[in-house]
Amino acid sequence: MYRVGFGNDIHELKEGRILVLGGVEVPSDVEAVGHSDADALLHAVTDSILGALALGDIGSHFSEKDKRWEGADSEIFLNETVKMMREKGFEVENIDSTISLEKPKLREQIESMRSNLSRLLGVNIDQVSIKAKTGEGFDAVGTRQAIKAEACILLKKV
Ligand SMILES: [Zn+2]
Repeated sequence: MYRVGFGNDIHELKEGRILVLGGVEVPSDVEAVGHSDADALLHAVTDSILGALALGDIGSHFSEKDKRWEGADSEIFLNETVKMMREKGFEVENIDSTISLEKPKLREQIESMRSNLSRLLGVNIDQVSIKAKTGEGFDAVGTRQAIKAEACILLKKV
């Protein structure tokens, strides 16, 4: 049996030095505002798994009101979610994702993000796709007010 899931996330950007994406620190002149480490990609991936299993969303499991998650490493959210997935007898077949960010370009970090996600999800790197897009100057992404991430995942019952 297969289950498909979708997740998306958006974070406001402010002046800064580091953007955390897929667990990788990207040197940048902006950083994402958020309760945890504001890793939009890991949040979208976490939501895609929860979505595939109809287990609610990231906010219902890891509330922004919970002090435990202040500045938290978002890998914790994904690890906990992967644990729930395994308890239900599923594993990841493949994942496709897109990060929308005007600047900086992410080309140099994409491979490290893929490798990190493959480790977190327990799959091979060729089962993990991460794409990077800009907003072409339009909308909140294009005007550098926000970063967005979207993920689509396929789970397989083992
Ligand atoms: Zn988020």
